[in-house]
Amino acid sequence: MVSAITKKPLPPPRYAARRRFWGPDAIDDGLLLWFPGPASFTGEDVAELHVHGGRAVYRALADALAAAGGRPAEPGEFTRRAFHNGKLDLTQAEAIADLVAAETEGQRRQALRQLDGALGQLYEGWRARLIAMSARAEAAIDFPEEDLPDGLLAGVATDAAVLAGELRRHLDDGGRGERLREGFHVAILGAPNAGKSSLLNALVGRAAAIVHETAGTTRDIVEAAIDLNGWPVVFSDTAGLRVTADPVEAEGVRRAQERAGQADLKLLIFDGSTQAEPDAATMVFAGPRALLVANKSDLGLVAGSCSISGWVRVSAATGEGLGGLAGQIAAAAAAALDGSAPAPTRLRHRMAVETCIQHLDAMCRASLPELLVEDLRLAARALAAAVGRIDIEDVLDAVFREFCIGK
Ligand code: GDP
Ligand code: ZN
Repeated sequence: MVSAITKKPLPPPRYAARRRFWGPDAIDDGLLLWFPGPASFTGEDVAELHVHGGRAVYRALADALAAAGGRPAEPGEFTRRAFHNGKLDLTQAEAIADLVAAETEGQRRQALRQLDGALGQLYEGWRARLIAMSARAEAAIDFPEEDLPDGLLAGVATDAAVLAGELRRHLDDGGRGERLREGFHVAILGAPNAGKSSLLNALVGRAAAIVHETAGTTRDIVEAAIDLNGWPVVFSDTAGLRVTADPVEAEGVRRAQERAGQADLKLLIFDGSTQAEPDAATMVFAGPRALLVANKSDLGLVAGSCSISGWVRVSAATGEGLGGLAGQIAAAAAAALDGSAPAPTRLRHRMAVETCIQHLDAMCRASLPELLVEDLRLAARALAAAVGRIDIEDVLDAVFREFCIGK
């Protein structure tokens, strides 16, 4: 197909050759790279054409390739083929989508680690241990008891309990991997007019939220994502927390409270030029994952402001103290998101590991060796699904749907 549009033989493998590309007439002048399978990304024969990216060039080239028997790739098709040809496991395929979507250094590092196979290898290692356990348990079925070493089944049960503990620790990481993909959520909470929207705008550096002098302006939640020292942080500006008769504003307050409950960190902001500490409606959210922020320091803070320790003084108007506040938020994000052990990065991984744990727990309760072997088989199967060793078409469709065309 490629020779048909270059009217020349293929260049040597993996060398860039200059070629003219032909349709009914000359289309463009560019570079051609040839990667014969199986030593290519997909494992199949792959040619890469580098052309001048104009739409007319692309269209004429697509027509010429179609005339030679080709068709455009589906989104994620290259990666899907690489997966089917055993070049990648499913967690690595997902990592490619994550790498393409990565916006911060933290996200990029996590995606690259997963692409290197850290998560898949962890699951494969666990699966290998399960297979070894089931081989031992099967011996208990196949051989008479006097030929078997003492305590064979008890030993399998102990190993299964140890493994279940490792799996639980893997899940019990506060959702680090998923949050690194999706962002560390910071809710900005406080009374109307405390300066929540101004603070969000100042932190994000653009007018993401409406700032208005009338209290109760921000009725719905405004979100803005930024890269804070490499960590993805999503701020949400919420409706002012106060008791109100207006049903629309009341709904906003309800949403603010709900969001506050889900946030990884809460900024409890108050107007420090008129108050010594936040209102009671805001202080409800005080706790280890909350920072008190006295705003409007440019107007002079009320004496005795914030007797509570661990607070920050800022001025959303002049920018005073914002660098320090951003640093504290980045430190909280780093503490929550940083880690060297591979973490589950998707609900799919988490569910597979949970299923595996359930079968291991069932196994520890099983009395007959036959049942025990079956539980081990199902536990191993859950991990095999996680890395895509067993094809489950709807899982694959869901995974590859996130991809863009050309990957
Ligand atoms: P929100 O209701 O908590 O979102 O408060 P806004 O951000 O809408 O701000 C309420 C009012 O306070 C607006 O008039 C802002 O201009 C003003 N404001 C906000 N932050 C500061 C600040 O640091 N200093 C001063 N002087 N005014 C501020
Ligand atoms: Zn507001």
